[in-house]
Amino acid sequence: MRILITAGPTREAIDPVRYISNRSSGKMGYAIAEAAVEAGHEVILISGPTNLGAPVGLEMIPVESARDMYEAVRNRLDDSVGAGIFCAAVADYRPRSVPDRKIKKKEAAMSIELEPTDDILGSVRSAFGFGGVLVGFAAETNDMEANALEKLERKGCDLLVANDVSRKDIGFDRDANEVQLFFKDGRRESLPMQSKAELGVTLVKVVEAMA
Ligand code: C5P
Repeated sequence: MRILITAGPTREAIDPVRYISNRSSGKMGYAIAEAAVEAGHEVILISGPTNLGAPVGLEMIPVESARDMYEAVRNRLDDSVGAGIFCAAVADYRPRSVPDRKIKKKEAAMSIELEPTDDILGSVRSAFGFGGVLVGFAAETNDMEANALEKLERKGCDLLVANDVSRKDIGFDRDANEVQLFFKDGRRESLPMQSKAELGVTLVKVVEAMA
């Protein structure tokens, strides 16, 4: 099967030298991509900037901003793709206007006006007409179950993988993760804490069973 995976953070420019981003390391998405390659799948990995080396045996598309990631997904998510796994921590907002020169420091306080970015996962069913297996991720600090179920429905996912990023031992930039799976058909599963590498293997099997 051909599997498209998004991973890592995005960077939203403030000016030519500054940006807004988040703590995503890309480890979870890369682990899924590596497990999918290992299982014999053809993988397209669309990744924001990370410190990780590009995994071998797959097509890597590096992107920077949410807009770049949106365009890359739109270009590549065609009928040949059997599953889309949206693991990236896409910035929700970007500066509304980006000057082409570095903003000078002044004594006075300053503010930056932000506008929403495109919701990539939210566009996959509705705007791109994707008919394959759709997996989203949710990083929550509170009300995990309610938020996960709402997102599963709103984004048209078949599976929502929820992790609690308020915990220090799992999640962002950690090597281990503990997630809960919420399926469209109402099934739920809590997976035990495991390395992101192991979790990648598990999630690929789950996706294979849904395809
Ligand atoms: O709404 P929220 O950002 O919490 O949704 C998380 C899920 O949506 C993740 O799967 C993430 O990769 C995806 N997402 C996206 N584009 C955005 C925001 C989130 O694909 N702009």
